[in-house]
Amino acid sequence: MAAPCMPDACISDTTLPGDSLASVAEAATTAPAAAADEHYMALALLEAQKAWREGEVPVGAVVVKDGEVIATGYNQPIGRHDPTAHAEIMALRAAAARLGNYRLPGCELYVTLEPCAMCSGAMMHARLARVVYAAVDPKTGVGGSVLDLFALEQLNHHTAIAGGVLAEEAGAMLKGFFAERRAAAAQRRLAGRRGTEDGN
Ligand code: ZN
Repeated sequence: MAAPCMPDACISDTTLPGDSLASVAEAATTAPAAAADEHYMALALLEAQKAWREGEVPVGAVVVKDGEVIATGYNQPIGRHDPTAHAEIMALRAAAARLGNYRLPGCELYVTLEPCAMCSGAMMHARLARVVYAAVDPKTGVGGSVLDLFALEQLNHHTAIAGGVLAEEAGAMLKGFFAERRAAAAQRRLAGRRGTEDGN
């Protein structure tokens, strides 16, 4: 069931680059490596839009095995009352359930934002072959921004990481989300002030 749409969290479809993402995903279906990365990242961006529609920070992820998307996930910690419900964790759980295996060797995970320490730890436990992210996260990213957990051989010798695939698109979506949230907050403050004035 879809989470209730809060007035300040609702967005019109015109603000979402859904059509262009869908066409990127479609166009790249048969293309080689780099284009394949863009194809899967475009699918992850479509997942991120689902988070936005539910008022969550728009981050999405897909897990790919042998060229097939076997699981998807999007950020939903608020709606689920779950601090671990990041897009990557949701996708990893779905992939592990689908394969009937807590380890996911040979799988690749595409995520629209550089992963945090929690998600990176889970990816390493899952022994993913490769993680690809879009936008960097200077605040909590551990794929090279705050630190690079993947480069620590004591922690990781299974999972390769790469960033920057469709970074502009992912960054634009995050910026759009936060701009909308700030505008809604400003509007609420204005409405509150008007309410006080009317009361006097
Ligand atoms: Zn995370």
